[in-house]
Amino acid sequence: MPDATTGFTQALGRSPTGDQPLKLAVQRSGRLTEPTLDLLHAIGLQFESYGQRLFSHCRNFPLSILYGRDDDIPGYVGLGTVDLGIVGRNLIHEENVAVEELAPLGFGYCELVVAALRDAPYSEPRQLLGARIATSYPGSARRYFQGIGGDPEIITISGSVEVAPSLGLADAIVELTATGSTLLLNDLRPLATILESEAVLAANPTSLADPAKRANVDRLLMRIDAVRAAKRYKYLMMNAPEAALPAIRAVVPGLKAPTIVPLADPGWVAVHTAVEEDAFWESIERLRAAGATEILVSSLEKLLL
Ligand code: ATP
Ligand code: ZN
Repeated sequence: MPDATTGFTQALGRSPTGDQPLKLAVQRSGRLTEPTLDLLHAIGLQFESYGQRLFSHCRNFPLSILYGRDDDIPGYVGLGTVDLGIVGRNLIHEENVAVEELAPLGFGYCELVVAALRDAPYSEPRQLLGARIATSYPGSARRYFQGIGGDPEIITISGSVEVAPSLGLADAIVELTATGSTLLLNDLRPLATILESEAVLAANPTSLADPAKRANVDRLLMRIDAVRAAKRYKYLMMNAPEAALPAIRAVVPGLKAPTIVPLADPGWVAVHTAVEEDAFWESIERLRAAGATEILVSSLEKLLL
């Protein structure tokens, strides 16, 4: 879309402060939109994102945000129309553009899979080398099959790819799945995973080579890391007899070491520490067994390690 792209470039070039803001493309309306905007707000950016806007300027950071179709974002980043994009890794793979993946963002998880009808006589993708494959990811499908030594006929469809095999349109499909429920619903069985995907922050390599831009990209990355690290941990406060401390410290070593504060009751202490979300319930059980009481748990908002 050369006209729209030129329009965006001109619009984004106008900064209220006169300096050159970074340009970030995000999905305007779709699965990634809400978690993307939540992340941008969580890292402290102030901007308006309502309605049918095509772009907005951050009030408190040199950044302009462009809202577009997710399929267009890898191209914008690759061409340098924008410096940064938040998009599914699956689309970067599909468009096969030279962009740098700076950080996985922890949402938009899905897999690109090869799937066939449950009763079809295929147990692995190699058996599909001469078959017909329906997909909305023709680039990824073609490269995958070429990689295993074949060049099947690829039929590109933009929606409801999952019904193609039962309609007799194709022998198998290459499609995204998150929970597998749409595959199941259509009697399909995954044969192989081509790619594991989540939303990522991608950057144009030339933009990263510009020191002024790089400095602002690094500021964004530091904030994203802090927000994501905070999600991985819970903050724990508990009371315990002093004698239980060695056992408690074995369960929750803390980021460096737990904070230990004496209580007004002699022989008792309060222990403050961070614990990883993954091991959370197991840690609580072991802490209680070690003698901890009045365990208080809170979420962290930001964590700078
Ligand atoms: P657009 O209008 O921007 O082109 P779209 O309809 O193509 O949107 P969405 O369905 O909103 O795209 O999906 C956006 C991204 O969400 C996908 O590219 C993928 O990275 C991710 N995703 C996560 N789970 C799924 C899923 N179950 N199916 C499809 N995409 C998923
Ligand atoms: Zn799309």
